This record gives sequence, structure tokens and C-alpha cells, in this order.
Amino acid sequence: MTLYKDSLLERHDSEVARILEQEAERQENTITLIASENHVHPSIIEAQSCLMTDKYAEGYPGRRYYGGCANIDTVETLAIERAKELFKAEHANVQPHSGSQANMATYSALLGFGDAVMGLSLSHGGHLTHGSKVNFSGKWYNFIPYGVNARTEMLDYDEIEELALRNRPKLIVAGASAYPRTIDFKRFRDIADKVDAGLVADIAHISGLVAAGLHPSPVPHVDVVTSTTQKTLRGPRGGFILCKKELAPAIDAAVFPRMQGGPAMHVIAAKAVCFFNAMQPEFVEYQRSVLKNARVLALELQKYGMRIVSGGTDNHMVLVDISPLGISGREAEEALEASGILANRNTIPFDPKPPRIASGIRLGTPAITTRGFGTGEVIEIASFISQVLSNPQDEKLRERIRHEVKEMCRHFPVPALK
Ligand SMILES: *Cc1c(COP(=O)(O)O)cnc(C)c1O
Repeated sequence: MTLYKDSLLERHDSEVARILEQEAERQENTITLIASENHVHPSIIEAQSCLMTDKYAEGYPGRRYYGGCANIDTVETLAIERAKELFKAEHANVQPHSGSQANMATYSALLGFGDAVMGLSLSHGGHLTHGSKVNFSGKWYNFIPYGVNARTEMLDYDEIEELALRNRPKLIVAGASAYPRTIDFKRFRDIADKVDAGLVADIAHISGLVAAGLHPSPVPHVDVVTSTTQKTLRGPRGGFILCKKELAPAIDAAVFPRMQGGPAMHVIAAKAVCFFNAMQPEFVEYQRSVLKNARVLALELQKYGMRIVSGGTDNHMVLVDISPLGISGREAEEALEASGILANRNTIPFDPKPPRIASGIRLGTPAITTRGFGTGEVIEIASFISQVLSNPQDEKLRERIRHEVKEMCRHFPVPALK
């Protein structure tokens, strides 16, 4: 792998070239089970490194505040049209710089400061932007957190409805960062209608599954959909918003000029490629394999005595309670990283431990599936995880697993490094 050796970048700025080379090597030799990460297709990297990074294009196609935007307009329109087609949405805004910015713009379009909003609590799998106190969402809006049911560890729609009837929120946010089950957006719509609230679906994690038709789409049921492009959708780092026609002016005005200046046009070019890639039959096959790998991973880890939160998974993610093994999420994360396996510590619902320590780890299969890992590799990975977590301080074991991980990775190169 010599991505940057003898490259122009290396001749020009060898310091950065060396760091990038090391990052490529790290990715190549590591099993990435971080549920929010993926490995992009080389077409995404090529598009994202295009010259459109040079261009200022404040505004929207056909109404820019700068000249020279003909090609910019064409590529942004293409990205918009593809997003609409892929998700069968009436309107798309592809300018948000990230998922968080998509949420920020959406709240700003639909809410005033201090308005009541319901969102999934961070400690039960919600995102920072769903009302966390350290985030703008928790500071500017009056978020009322809902959680999962203590017994099933799944969303309890009756409980959510009761909470909505009691609090009469102006908006309900449905979506999660650490929730392995299908989300019933239609049921959320019924609840929102009962209290006359707006409904936003944040599909940052599951948008690839939704695009492939393997998770029910929120589009017919909600007012606004927000998402990232970098997670299961396997595109560049960025966000986008889908909504009904009536809300388009409010959403567009909230993204620009309220929240953002010039759009990152090179990233929007890559978003267009991302939506194109997601329309191909191979993408559906890929997402099927993501689901299958996640199911196998959950079953295997269960065999080794780990407790799977909610008893299983419907999506790309497995939330594992590792407290039966007598170690914390933080210890697990560190021991796994030292063994060449990346996962993140995560609180489990009703976790007695604080988030910085946590009782669980969150695992996801999008990145390994992109590399081509199948059931056989997943079974082996589960065994690696079990060995490491059963002997978290064993240096020799870490070294051996690191070697085996590297060997496995060698057969499945990261697409951009092939
Ligand atoms: C990842 C995520 C986001 C934020 O995405 P960024 O691009 O990191 O800002 C928002 N909502 C949910 C549910 C997420 O999982």
C-alpha cells in the first residue's frame, strides 16, 4: 500500500503525506466495528477531492450570490434529484455540512427557543442533538426525553404516547444512534397527530438500510427527515434533509442563510455520487449482508456469555452488555483497540455506570461488510472479541489477536486502497 509514496503531496508536504499514509495503514490493518463508520468507494474520494472546493456558491441552484455557478448548479440539482428519487421525497436539501447541522437547521425551521420537544434520551440511545444538556439542542429547546422500556429495552410506544399527552410537545424527534431495533415511524405519526406535534425522523444511522428498502421508510409519515451521508449510506462526511413541499422554503432558509454560508460543493458532488451508488442493485445486496453479519455477530457473542441489549438486532448494530464478563465498556474498548479491533464503549439502557465508563459496547457491521467480510469472518471476529474481553489485560493474547486481525484484513482490502 503506497497511496502517498512518491505522490505530489509527499513531495510538497511530506509531513501530512506521512500522517495520511499511516492512517491508510491503520484502516487497512484494523477491524472497524464502529457502527457509525464505513469505508467509502473510491468514486466518493475522487469526487470529494474535486476542484469544486474552490467555488463559492451561497444560495441554491438558479439563485446564487456568486457568478460562475453553472456547473455547481448542475451538480447540486443532480444531488437533489437523486436524493428525492432514492428516498421518494418531495424536497431535498443537500447542503448541511453534517448530521448535526441538518438537525440544527430543522429545529430552527420548526421551533422557537424554549419550545417543548421530545427526543430519545442520550443514555437510551439518542443522539447529542436530541436534547443533550451539553448540546445546542438541550440549551435552546425544552427537550423532554423519552426512553426505552426497562424490560424489553425497546421503544415503548404506549409510554411515549402517554408522555406526549402529558407534555404536549411542539415536535417529536424519532431516531437514534444506539438502538438496534426497527423504528415504527407510522406509530410515531399517530402519537404526534394526537397532540398536534410535528414529527422529525433522524435516520443518520439507518439511511442506507432505508434507501435499500430494508428498514421501513419514514418519508410517508413524517414532516422532515434528517440524515448523514457517511454512515450506512457510505458517502462523504455530510448531512441532508428531506421534507414535504410545503416545508421546503422554511427548511432551505434555515440551512442557508440562517445556519451556514457557502455550501461545500466538492462534498455535494460526492453526495451526488453517493446517492447514485445507493441506487445500484449491488447496494441492496450490500445492505442485506450488513444485516446478516449483524445478526450473526449478535448470536455468536451471545454464545460467549455476553448479553445482547433488547435480545437481538434488526439493523446494522449490536449493543452488547458486557457486565456479565466483569469488565466495563471503557476497559473493553481499550483492550479491543490494543488487539486491532475498533468498537466504542456505550451506555446500555438504565446503565448504573456513567457514560465515560459504561457497561456496554456498540458494534456495527457496515465497515467490515464493505470490505467483503462474510459470516465466516464474523464468527471468527466474535471469537476474537470473546477471547480479548475474557482476558482484557493479557498482553500476549492482544499481540496474537492483533496478528490474526492483520492476517484477516490482508484478504479484504479497504476499497480505496485496493
Ligand atoms: C451521527 C448522528 C448525527 C450527527 O451526525 P454528524 O455528522 O456527526 O454531525 C445525528 N443524529 C444521529 C441519530 C446520529 O447518529
